[in-house]
Amino acid sequence: MGKVYVLREPRKKDWNIYALREAARLKKWFIGTYYSPRLKRLLIAFKPTPGTHVNRLVFEEMNESLLRESYQMVCPPGCGRCCVAKSGAFMLDIEVTKLPPELQLKLEAQPKERILTPGGVVTIYYIGTGPGGRCIFYNAQQRRCMLEAQYGKEAKPIICLIEYCTVFAERNGKKYLKTGYKVTDNGVLMFYRSVGGDEWKAAIRRMARLTERIAKAERRRRKEQQEAQEPRI
Ligand code: SF4
Ligand code: SF4
Repeated sequence: MGKVYVLREPRKKDWNIYALREAARLKKWFIGTYYSPRLKRLLIAFKPTPGTHVNRLVFEEMNESLLRESYQMVCPPGCGRCCVAKSGAFMLDIEVTKLPPELQLKLEAQPKERILTPGGVVTIYYIGTGPGGRCIFYNAQQRRCMLEAQYGKEAKPIICLIEYCTVFAERNGKKYLKTGYKVTDNGVLMFYRSVGGDEWKAAIRRMARLTERIAKAERRRRKEQQEAQEPRI
């Protein structure tokens, strides 16, 4: 049985980018982001097949039973809030090289930053450069990430896979919504309440309002453009 490893807690930007690049190498073994009330921290967990190299500078081994008592973060389909505006998302160089050539070309045209990390220079490609900071891969009409839709979950940037708003969670088959949090000296306390399907759906609708508004405005703009181009008789 494979061991579970979680990313150590974040530090400074250069270290975090280094840790993210190491995590990107294990992307296909990502099993979820959890909140542990016992440790008062998020656990970004991977379960690589035995024999896989795991960089222990950035990962620590974790008992799997700890994940079972933790809340697993969930991103319900249809929200899109993290992608539709002020996304701030980025891709790492090793992720870009795995994409088809036409997408690599698209990314080469994006703003880039070279960061000196403890593991060497890492180039990051900013993709939240659409209108209002929308991710260039987000389709607001279909409300989905086109990278994932066309090339699978592994094509998504590691930052998008591991980061959550922490509003929605599941534990032992039950759904939970976050009701608040408190920063303490030794971590962050997050409070969750078990909810039924209707309350869960209502929360998704609330979170998706921004996406809905942007998608509507886009449809209106397109219609106006079409009408302006139609010949007048
Ligand atoms: S705000 Fe939460 S539910 Fe919405 S897209 Fe982001 S992570 Fe997913
Ligand atoms: S790559 Fe996908 S998941 Fe990440 S911000 Fe863009 S649309 Fe959202």
